[in-house]
Amino acid sequence: MEETHNTATAATPTISGELMSSDFQFSYQNSLPKPDVQILTSNGLRIPAHTGILASVSPVLENIIDRPHKHHSSEKIIPILGVPCDAVSLFIQFLYSSRCSEEELEKYGIHLLALSHVYLVPQLKHMCSKAVGQRLTVENVVDVLQLARLCDSPDLYVKCMKMLSDNFKAVEKTEGWKFMQENDPFLELEILRFIDEAESRKKRTRRHREEQRLFMELSEAMECLEHICTEGCTTVGPCDLGPSNKRRGPCNKFSTCEGLQLLIKHFTMCKNRVNGKCSRCKRMGQLLRLHSSICDQTDSCRVPLCRQFKLKMQRERRGDETLWSLLVKKVASARVMSSLSLPKRKREEPRETIHDHGIRNFRK
Ligand SMILES: [Zn+2]
Ligand SMILES: [Zn+2]
Ligand SMILES: [Zn+2]
Repeated sequence: MEETHNTATAATPTISGELMSSDFQFSYQNSLPKPDVQILTSNGLRIPAHTGILASVSPVLENIIDRPHKHHSSEKIIPILGVPCDAVSLFIQFLYSSRCSEEELEKYGIHLLALSHVYLVPQLKHMCSKAVGQRLTVENVVDVLQLARLCDSPDLYVKCMKMLSDNFKAVEKTEGWKFMQENDPFLELEILRFIDEAESRKKRTRRHREEQRLFMELSEAMECLEHICTEGCTTVGPCDLGPSNKRRGPCNKFSTCEGLQLLIKHFTMCKNRVNGKCSRCKRMGQLLRLHSSICDQTDSCRVPLCRQFKLKMQRERRGDETLWSLLVKKVASARVMSSLSLPKRKREEPRETIHDHGIRNFRK
């Protein structure tokens, strides 16, 4: 960020060195009355300033300025110690100008964050949190996390935690981590807990996504089953009309549809179907049962066994009834979702850990 200051060369002897840019000194020395307070920094440097300005920007400094003096001296002195004096200079500069360059933030962002927190200067605090957050590294993340905690900066805190959990193996090897481990076991616990929760959050999302995909696939299979049995598709046609009545071109769900047609063909010919030894036939049976659970055409439906399953389900109360009806609900709602044409899930994601009543893989 380039700043356009007036160019001036006036240097004042009270502020030593190059700590404040000379043009800044110029503008504030020339347009303001005589300074009435001195800021004392850790190396003994005194920065002249104006109580009116300090008090108007920082309520904490205002309090300090308004506090009655113990010593009856004509000059007020406010010590700001514990941070490099350059950082104090930049801090005072910000109180006057509301400005801080990117280079200054890069060099003293951490100190300025602490100062802006202690002296309640939210505008600077916001700038610093952002700047420090953009410069997080594996090396400094533990220190910055501690600072974010001390300075009550939730954005920066979360950013650090995310970086920590994404790069934990590398962070664990840093000096900052080892030091924190020895000196702040509570923070270590807090970090480990965060990582743990982030992991299980990821797992939950993954599982949910896999389940959604299963329901979508089943819903697609239900759609195919219906159109295969009513109007036919490539090789299998409606059961009462035979495959000669098949549609000419494949449908837009061809991979599902083709697998299902193969399964139907197998189902009609398999010799092991009746004795329950064939897993493909079992799968087909479950798909037919699922259809029957969803189907609302009582008499006109052409899907095989639809009516029989409906009657059977009315007679029997099965042990897994609640699970089954949950599955039916999910597939039915996936169907509604797909009719709203929501984006399709990617197909190449891993597909284990799913409780699928054994009906998945109907394509094989
Ligand atoms: Zn089809
Ligand atoms: Zn079979
Ligand atoms: Zn039906």
